[in-house]
Amino acid sequence: MKILTDIHTHTVASTHAYSTIRENAFAAAEKGLELIAKTDHSISTPDAPHIFHFENLKALPSNIGGVKVLKGVECSVLNNKGDIDLPERLLKRMEIVIVSIHSVVYKQKNKADHTKTWLSVMDNPYVDILGHTGRNGFNFDHDAVAKKAKEKDVMIEVNRYTLTKENQKEVCRSIILACKKHGTKICLGSDAHYCDSVGDFDSAIALLKECGFPEELIINRDAKTLMEHLKNKKPYLEFNF
Ligand SMILES: [Zn+2]
Ligand SMILES: [Zn+2]
Repeated sequence: MKILTDIHTHTVASTHAYSTIRENAFAAAEKGLELIAKTDHSISTPDAPHIFHFENLKALPSNIGGVKVLKGVECSVLNNKGDIDLPERLLKRMEIVIVSIHSVVYKQKNKADHTKTWLSVMDNPYVDILGHTGRNGFNFDHDAVAKKAKEKDVMIEVNRYTLTKENQKEVCRSIILACKKHGTKICLGSDAHYCDSVGDFDSAIALLKECGFPEELIINRDAKTLMEHLKNKKPYLEFNF
């Protein structure tokens, strides 16, 4: 299995990351990827850029070094009502929107509360992906969330960085199996904070194989499949490819 796009990458715009968009794109080209999404943190995390960063993404080309570049964001959930940290006027301009729970913004509570949070997030029509849901400490009802993600056509991310911790791998396995059960779309993200990690999906692919996960539900397996999905979800946007 070869995954030709990476839907979750950070640049120096999130100050806890260390590569530029150009370095990420050229690293992706070297690895034979067709597309990367630039998804720096939105405004509520301490490392985030100013909101002007997201206002001005049109300044970036849509193709860098032969690799398609989607201009997106990784938002943080703010509360269990599903509020996220970018205003609607900008969310509707983002080509891809990941929403994640970050402990620096959202305080850990209990399983019922985390489940309510994920279910509420999916009522926001601009949300494309639930990010690194397998991260430690934020347990939730995998079955209920995968079921609603299928209904809302929201993808659930299998996150490379989460899989670097062995105890989180078992949580990820359970989430993947819930997605398989409900026919929920997923995508693979490197969550790269340095360009060498862009497109590193070895651990995610190994886990998906162990789970017998159907390849047709991996929506970022190539740019064509991913773009068909996004264009269908975002008819109000004009994509450049
Ligand atoms: Zn994150
Ligand atoms: Zn991230």
